Amino acid sequence: MGKKGLLLCVCQGTCPSFQGMDIFEILNSLRREKVFDFVGLHPQLCADDGDEFLKVLVAGEKIDELYVAGCDIRMQQKMFRDAFENAGFDRTRHFGIDIRNMKTEQVIDAIKKLIEEKST
Ligand code: SF4
Repeated sequence: MGKKGLLLCVCQGTCPSFQGMDIFEILNSLRREKVFDFVGLHPQLCADDGDEFLKVLVAGEKIDELYVAGCDIRMQQKMFRDAFENAGFDRTRHFGIDIRNMKTEQVIDAIKKLIEEKST
């Protein structure tokens, strides 16, 4: 059975939109509750090495659902399109979550809400 994973992407940690949250608490909280099979953090998925990271991560058939919490969902879809295509990853298995300007608990709630919506 494929895995369900979460990546946080936070504009190198320097963008004000991500300064109001504790990114490690978000990841740890979701780990503790076993919401995902794996979680990870990348500073800038839309950079060249971010593309490479995504390609390596999604290659093969191991990931069923990849959630990315970061910037605008449509921006994510555009920016990750080539990496997913090159890796043969079905783009409909990517689920973006816009967490800009949220606090820690708001981010956790938004991510869990999307997971709940998808499972009902
Ligand atoms: S993918 Fe979005 S959140 Fe990540 S670095 Fe690029 S603009 Fe920022």
